[in-house]
This record gives sequence, structure tokens and C-alpha cells, in this order.
Amino acid sequence: MKIGVLALQGDFELHAKALGRCGIQAGEVRKPEQLADVDGLIIPGGESTTLLKLMHEWGFVPALEKFHAQGRPIFGTCAGLILLAREVESPAQFSLGLIDVGVERNAYGRQRESFEARGSATLEGRATPIEMVFIRAPRIRRVGAGVETLAAYRDEPVMARQGSVLVATFHPELTDDPAVHEYFCAMVRKARVGVRAAAEGEASLRKGVRAAADGEASLRSGRPA
Ligand code: GLN
Repeated sequence: MKIGVLALQGDFELHAKALGRCGIQAGEVRKPEQLADVDGLIIPGGESTTLLKLMHEWGFVPALEKFHAQGRPIFGTCAGLILLAREVESPAQFSLGLIDVGVERNAYGRQRESFEARGSATLEGRATPIEMVFIRAPRIRRVGAGVETLAAYRDEPVMARQGSVLVATFHPELTDDPAVHEYFCAMVRKARVGVRAAAEGEASLRKGVRAAADGEASLRSGRPA
């Protein structure tokens, strides 16, 4: 199993190290074609406007939509969450809309640009203590009905999941605590079984269609296939 880290801008190297601590091979993804080699993807923190510009330039938008449609998991932290959200405000900007939440950028104000907090997440049904580092963090202002809140800070959601999409407003890669990355690795491991079965099913379907076409052609020509 291999997990990609979008390496266009931001702190992608620390995510690769965090995956390494979970015993998972990480791959830097700089071009859309490289998505074919990974079972899941982390979109790191950084500057969402810059990331967006680079994503558009390199043709990542349709590639990520396809990646998501295939059921392969995506984890967005901070700017990564901003790119995955359904709505973005302050100011409004394009987003992929792969998770039904609304976010406000840089929402803690100048005085609290970065801070650390301890909190509790509910991972696999278990309360898990986690360390949270917030850096010019967004706030999740709206959570859709199909979205599960996995961690909160001061009664506001800071980590959430909808199907194969996981998001956090904080930076789990900046602590030594592997809990959040381990949770994402487990998501990818589980999804991989279904994604592989679907790909094999599609391949055998294609083989079947080809065999049927050959059979039909040979029937028509009266010669054996
Ligand atoms: N403030 C940044 C943005 O709006 C996100 C900051 C981060 O990723 N740490 O894109």
C-alpha cells in the first residue's frame, strides 16, 4: 500500500515522515499521472490560493475528482481542507466540494494565528486524546447531514469525515502523535480492497466484451474465432 502526498506547495515532507512512522510508504505527487500509483492522498496545509493556482495549472482538478469517484481516500489538513470543502468564505474561492462542509479561512483572528491545544477525537468509536496545532487555521462553519464530526475544539468541529474524505483544520503532522495518520491509513487499507475488486471486475468485464465481439465476428464470417 502506498499513500501519496500532494507536493505542489506546503508542508508535504512532514506528512511523508508521519506516514513513515505508521510504517506506510509515502510518495510525493507532483503530476496528476502519479495519482495512479497511490491508494490514498494527503493534501497538506500551505496557502490554499497558491495550491489552487498550481492545481489548475497542472490539471489536478479533474484528476482528483476521478480519484475520489474511484473510492480512493483523501485527507486534507488546513489548506487541504479548504480545497476539499463545499463552500469557502473570507474570501470565497473555488473548491472541489468533495466534503459537505462550509469553511471560513483564517478564522481565529490575528491574535491567535497559531496555537496548540489538546483535545479528544473519536476514532473507530474510541475516545482518543490528540494534540492539535492550528496555524492560520480555517473554522468549519457548517457541517452537512452526511458528515461525521470526529474531533471538536471548544464545541466546534475540527476534524470530520464523509465517506472516503477526511479533513482536519489542524496539523497532525507537526506532532509526534501518529493517531490521526494511523486513522487515515486504516481508511485507505479498507478502501483498497473495494477499489481493487472494482478494477478487476472492470478488467474482466472488458475481456468478456472483447471475447463476445470476437465470437460475434467469427459467427458472421462463418470462420472459427
Ligand atoms: N490560511 C491558509 C489558507 O487560507 C491555510 C493555513 C494552513 O494551511 N496552515 O489557505
